[in-house]
Amino acid sequence: MVNIDFKSGFVSIIGKPNVGKSTLMNRLIGEKLSIVTPKPQTTRMNIRGFYNSNIAQIIFLDTPGFLEPRYELHERMMRYITDSIKKSDVIIFLGDIADYPTEYDSKIISLLKILKTPVIGILNKIEMCSNSQIQEKKELLESNFLETFFISALKDNEFNDLISCIVKHLPICQPLYNQEDLSDMPIRFFAQEIIREKIFLSYGKEIPYSSTVVVEKWLEEEERDVIQANIWVERDSQKPIILGSGGVKIGEIRSKAEKDIMNITGRKAVLNLWVKVKHDWRKKNGALQEFGYK
Ligand code: GDP
Ligand code: MG
Repeated sequence: MVNIDFKSGFVSIIGKPNVGKSTLMNRLIGEKLSIVTPKPQTTRMNIRGFYNSNIAQIIFLDTPGFLEPRYELHERMMRYITDSIKKSDVIIFLGDIADYPTEYDSKIISLLKILKTPVIGILNKIEMCSNSQIQEKKELLESNFLETFFISALKDNEFNDLISCIVKHLPICQPLYNQEDLSDMPIRFFAQEIIREKIFLSYGKEIPYSSTVVVEKWLEEEERDVIQANIWVERDSQKPIILGSGGVKIGEIRSKAEKDIMNITGRKAVLNLWVKVKHDWRKKNGALQEFGYK
């Protein structure tokens, strides 16, 4: 039966790197779709994740954090954010309660004020603060946004009030995507992201930012998926670091990623990883295109 009051629309989550945008989206849709690490700039593209209920479908766009572009890759990351804002019915601004408002937050907020799109202002990580600190930030946030929330994306058990607030601002519209789905992005993409997450979590400062992952082949066998993926790095010297002595490091990445891929596909996954070098790929248009940063 068609529900004539059904609501559906796009909601972008924006804010500076590391405030918990990906964590929040994962919690709102109830699945770990977007990768989360303690390092900034983990999310490189807009990740779409769907929240489905019998009254609404919310298409969340988890964006990379705004940053001053230093590479062509960064320029593209900025374009993803602008694109997401343009197509949004509602925008969520997310800040970290500990340092809100940073200069960075203020810049985003002044940009958002120009738009007609409804914006919900949220401060995250409140479990780290005392009540009086929260109270102090409350007034600051309320001076910028009509709708405000104070949350712990990590610790809160439910987000019903926030979901209701989002739905209130969505247009009446039949579901835009299949209501059984969690995303319209292909499983290959999520496998790449899972491998990238393991790299972010396993290596120090430079390697995560210098690498990207492309799934080359995905063979669906009767009992299992056999997946071949390339890890691309920027310099020859980075290759042995990724491999680790005797290939131990990459072996760890492989088994952790296989487990997470199995969690989303429900099938056994066998992952073959190759490390390859494309010099300075972050600065090269052709390479970025080839690696999926369209
Ligand atoms: P993003 O860059 O904005 O997408 O941030 P992430 O979702 O990747 O989170 C960055 C870091 O903040 C990760 O280590 C998260 O576990 C952590 N984090 C996210 N939400 C919370 C929260 O509510 N409380 C605390 N203490 N940490 C959080
Ligand atoms: Mg993120």
